[in-house]
Amino acid sequence: MIRLRFWGAAQTVTGSLYELAVDGVVHMLVDCGLFQGGPEADDANRNPFPFDPASLDLVVLTHAHLDHSGRIPLLYKRGFRGRVICTLATADLCRVLWPDSGHIQEADAEWRRRKAQRAGREAQPPLYTAQEAQDALGLLDGVPYEEPVPLAPGLTLRFRDAGHILGSAMAVLDFQGPPAFRLIFSGDLGQVGAPILRDPAQPALADCLVMESTYGGRRHPPSSGRRQQLAEIIQDTFSRGGKLVIPAFAVERTQDLIYELNALAASGQLPDEPVFVDSPLAISATEIFSRHPECFDRLTWQQIQKGDMPLDLVQLRFTRTTEESQSINGLKGPAIILSASGMADAGRIRHHLKHNLWRPEATVLFVGYQAPGTLGWSLLNGARQVRILGEEVAVKARIVSLSSFSGHADEDGLAQWVAGFRQLPPRIFLTHGEPEAQKSLAARLQQLAAQRGERAAVTSPAPGEQYTLEPAADLWPAAVLRQRLQALAEHLDQLTPMERAHVQRQLSQFWAAMAGPAEAGAGRDTPDAVK
Ligand SMILES: [Zn+2]
Repeated sequence: MIRLRFWGAAQTVTGSLYELAVDGVVHMLVDCGLFQGGPEADDANRNPFPFDPASLDLVVLTHAHLDHSGRIPLLYKRGFRGRVICTLATADLCRVLWPDSGHIQEADAEWRRRKAQRAGREAQPPLYTAQEAQDALGLLDGVPYEEPVPLAPGLTLRFRDAGHILGSAMAVLDFQGPPAFRLIFSGDLGQVGAPILRDPAQPALADCLVMESTYGGRRHPPSSGRRQQLAEIIQDTFSRGGKLVIPAFAVERTQDLIYELNALAASGQLPDEPVFVDSPLAISATEIFSRHPECFDRLTWQQIQKGDMPLDLVQLRFTRTTEESQSINGLKGPAIILSASGMADAGRIRHHLKHNLWRPEATVLFVGYQAPGTLGWSLLNGARQVRILGEEVAVKARIVSLSSFSGHADEDGLAQWVAGFRQLPPRIFLTHGEPEAQKSLAARLQQLAAQRGERAAVTSPAPGEQYTLEPAADLWPAAVLRQRLQALAEHLDQLTPMERAHVQRQLSQFWAAMAGPAEAGAGRDTPDAVK
């Protein structure tokens, strides 16, 4: 019996954390990420884990983003010593992302300590230090895509492309049984046709699917137009003599933008002004990209073979040191500044926003998802005045968003991916989405099931809810069951006694499913009683 419990990214977007246990076989996590966005997220990160970290055998990590991996150093600090299994590129990215996250935790704690001291209060220590994050790196165990990895007796893992960021993967978990059971975690799913990376893989069958729903209810504009839109935004900003400030995740969005700027330069549409990548992390991530060509799609390979490096750009300037970073603010005239974090709630981007938000000639361009409670979210929602680094700043700059740069599939993309299964997974859990997005995607998937005459229970589990997973005969579409039985009946005389017994069992399950109250569970799964 497999028990699955949802502790994070449950009816929200950040803090991915799923606990999986089979008695006597394995006790593991899939992802262990930070909650992001505001003081509530801070508290949620500090709470004790609802299980003993030392009791865990292992963690399967879908990708390096901190909302999926960022609490692993904390897990280590609190006693976890098992393997963290991820793809090779994810391991390399974590090697720069975790210590950087530790530095941010330390800097935030120091800032809070001084504030608390002035108010005569006690302050919290950092969630974890850069050194603790460094120590946790020893747990990382990178494996290639598509290779079966034994996790425990009778349990195998296979990573498949998720097309979201470098190294991102869906995790396919095969429990040998009997009865055999396949559980797939989609991880974050990218857009089909996005540059550089291969598209998400298409699994055919699963008994249970845990999938992300970030962009449920929303549709990205076609990505074919985004290069032109970017060109227009640059043109418009530069004609006013302003700077274009782009908060971008250090991993993937920054490289996607360099890729598009490279393409604009090739077609003569990029004015000869400096392009700064002002984030030591983004610089390291760009280097890691070049070390992992096994993640690239065919188009990128062809481009490289022709001698055109997709992440090269003549006017590109990498600024690593604080001095170099500060010198950008003194620079007169147009420029493009790419800096992290992508939601503008941490990192150097805050300095660039402080120096540019009040200037009507400047533009701030958002290219990724902005979680409620972050500075990016406030700006996108029309704030006229914001507080940055302890200072009130008026918002006079033009604020724009290009969602076609999103690293996530939109609702059409998510639904098409599920439609690609040969038979719909009978149980689908939606995670990593706000309630509205989940409602929309759930309705879409139920509509898909109705069209195909199949049954799929679609559920958006609440934090802490636990479900018991077994091959659910009562959820098998009756049509499929009938087909299987007919196929068997045609060969009845050739059956061994064991096979005949199996047919009998199937038949009795079939009648039980057809007769019983199982119908009620068709739309939504119900959690186990809280123990
Ligand atoms: Zn992600």
